[in-house]
Amino acid sequence: MAHVLVGEPASTSPEHALIMQTSFTLAQLADPDLAEADKILRACVHCGFCTATCPTYVLLGDELDSPRGRIYLMKDMLENDRPASADVVKHIDRCLSCLACMTTCPSGVHYMHLVDHARVHIEKTYRRPLRERLLRALLARLLPNPWLFRLALRAAKIGKPFAPLFSLLGSKRTAAMLRLAPKRIRPRRKRQLRVITPQGERKGRVALLTGCVASVVTPEINEATIRVLARHGVEVVLARGEGCCGALVHHLGRDEAARSAARANVDAWNREIEGAGLDAILVTASGCGTMIKDYGYLLRTDPDYAEKARMVSGLARDVSEYVNQISGLRGEHAPPLVVAYHAACSLQHGQKITREPKEVLSKSGFVVKDIPDGHLCCGSAGTYNLLQPQLARALRDRKIANIAKVAPDVIAAGNVGCITQIAAGTEIPVVHPVELIDWATGGPVPGAMRRRMNTVRPV
Ligand code: SF4
Ligand code: SF4
Repeated sequence: MAHVLVGEPASTSPEHALIMQTSFTLAQLADPDLAEADKILRACVHCGFCTATCPTYVLLGDELDSPRGRIYLMKDMLENDRPASADVVKHIDRCLSCLACMTTCPSGVHYMHLVDHARVHIEKTYRRPLRERLLRALLARLLPNPWLFRLALRAAKIGKPFAPLFSLLGSKRTAAMLRLAPKRIRPRRKRQLRVITPQGERKGRVALLTGCVASVVTPEINEATIRVLARHGVEVVLARGEGCCGALVHHLGRDEAARSAARANVDAWNREIEGAGLDAILVTASGCGTMIKDYGYLLRTDPDYAEKARMVSGLARDVSEYVNQISGLRGEHAPPLVVAYHAACSLQHGQKITREPKEVLSKSGFVVKDIPDGHLCCGSAGTYNLLQPQLARALRDRKIANIAKVAPDVIAAGNVGCITQIAAGTEIPVVHPVELIDWATGGPVPGAMRRRMNTVRPV
């Protein structure tokens, strides 16, 4: 392995512009995941451009907490088929999987697939301390299951006032979980229509992901989406059998659990595709959208699912992509409020969607402002704010300070994780862009704004 460039600054010098040499054996390369890792590693030219936009490098200033440093650690671990060491685990665990490095990298290094594979390797070869194992097992069990998650949130609501006490006692993770638990949890809807027919002539038919965490924490986002779509002639189907996209367990290195969630969703949507047909599969949580758009890769070696998964990934759209191309969308009902648009990492870096959410908000009559340093993560990152609460909080505080610079009336973010993370640190209402679009096109005022209406001022 080449040397690890601890503390070395980013460089564009020719000696660094060398393609990384790898030495996987032929037997190792017979494993499709290692063959992919080899391809990714060989694309890296060590230039270090990615360090400047990596949130953990910005915070900690350690090369091993930068993309380039982590790439060296992963290369060494995978190439030598070494069990993960505590040190490697520490630096990989600190990675947010925000993918800012992928946006910056001039060589097209697919860091996401590499770090996902490293996490699986860590899960298989490293025995974490007991408390850590229990916490991870609990998160992997609770979060993808809306019924269990709702129960857990009810318990967390009771414990919420004790968050500062847990923090004082040194239990930062428990304190973080209690702080992030929403103050109000809507009761579960007894009956939910599976197919929502549009107003007027039907112009399209889409499936909408109900998901797991978002369906409990922010059900109003999908309700707003359904109203916007129905108002504009789009039939919405909530496919029977769909559920968690698998991203939460995937980021915990639980490969098989992620694949099994993906297969269930592929089956559910495939029945609709083969039945009445689908124009798109819409996702309102961009973390889930990034995952579903990658199902084709995740299931590429599964002969029963590879083709169907590719088709599902091809149909997956973030709600902003789809709504932005609806003709005749015009906001007439909402005041021209200043909206600070927070670009979720999974949307801007994972899916490369930067224009559509802002464009559709502007079309709807809002004054959209970018947040300074908008490429840096808010610290949410799936379960990151529960597992790495100190780093997550530092990133959140930084984000909120930057948001304050544009003095918005409201903050819009296209991912439930970011909404929860940012809302826990500010009095400014945080909503999903589609809730604002719903309001502007004839729907109700978004709930978070209604609750803080006295803080909203017209421009
Ligand atoms: S995914 Fe984000 S945190 Fe991880 S190395 Fe890349 S930029 Fe850094
Ligand atoms: S990942 Fe990309 S930006 Fe980072 S060092 Fe490698 S080639 Fe350069």
